[in-house]
Amino acid sequence: MRQLLTELTAIPGGLAHEYPVMCYIRDRLKGKVDTMMIDGIGNLIVSRKGALEGPEVLLAAHADEVGFIVSRIEPQGFIRFELRGGQDSRTLPFMPVVISTDKGPVKGVIGYISAHMRRFDNAEKVTDYRDLYIDIGADSAEQAKEMGVALGDAITWDTPLTQLGKDKWLGHAFDDRAGCAILIKMYETLDFSKVHGTVWSVFSVREEGGLLGAGVAARSLARDHAFDVAVAVDTTPARDTLEPRLNDHGVELGKGPTVKILDNSYQATPSVFKKIQKVAAENGIPCQDEIYMGIGTDAGAIYISGCGVPTSGISIPSRYCHSAREIVHERDMEQSLELLNAFLLSLEDKDEFRHKL
Ligand SMILES: [Zn+2]
Repeated sequence: MRQLLTELTAIPGGLAHEYPVMCYIRDRLKGKVDTMMIDGIGNLIVSRKGALEGPEVLLAAHADEVGFIVSRIEPQGFIRFELRGGQDSRTLPFMPVVISTDKGPVKGVIGYISAHMRRFDNAEKVTDYRDLYIDIGADSAEQAKEMGVALGDAITWDTPLTQLGKDKWLGHAFDDRAGCAILIKMYETLDFSKVHGTVWSVFSVREEGGLLGAGVAARSLARDHAFDVAVAVDTTPARDTLEPRLNDHGVELGKGPTVKILDNSYQATPSVFKKIQKVAAENGIPCQDEIYMGIGTDAGAIYISGCGVPTSGISIPSRYCHSAREIVHERDMEQSLELLNAFLLSLEDKDEFRHKL
């Protein structure tokens, strides 16, 4: 799992620039799924049929990551940028980034006034991203362009996955390559001779832009498929650090995956989240209930697609989400996979989650 997540997060995949991530997943899943396609917006959609009759299941994990795009090249060779996805300007200065250009990756660092010169600045002020710039080592705009940098190029964090302590991983884009890793591992480990129905997965684009890719995929698939249940696999912010205001209710790292009840994008279907909780209890997998309005996931676009889809989510707790340095717990990753696999094996009845007349 660690090796897979290391490789997945090493591939830059800003919004609308997810194709290299999709190519990696395509190669990895070749021979392990029955169908594979990329739609017009760039979603990778795969499916595998179980040996037994049963429900059509739709899973989702997003392949994009928060980042930036090049918005201006200054005469001195510095790069100005626009935000893509939910970024906090306080987290940006001095972070390493990589620009994905047509000539290949260009490394840089987000520049700002040094500590020695703070007296020339307003120490109280939160620096807006518009005052920041990326230093790629170019001396002029011409040199920056020669290096391949062009307006619209995607910029993402350049922080490779490293081990932290004995069981935690530090890196970027865990949101939501961690979810992609779980879906990939599911196709690699689940015994499909025991699976009822078909397991579809959308590796979605542009989630951080407003659940855009998953919405497109769910609506277009709904023309031919009436999904019986859907689960989005994503990360969710942990609230177990030292900030006192976060400790009122808390998802914690290392306490198992969360089961989605409510977030800002949707209210989960009770029959689905209760089934996931039941499966976790029956299999001895720890899990945490999640009610948090500060986040949305692809499920928020999926549950209102077609004629409506009973939906919930499984999330991996993560510290410092949407920064260059997120932390996830190895055991939460393994248990998220276990829970997803156990849930898929538990499904038999097509109509289990629907109200009946
Ligand atoms: Zn996410």
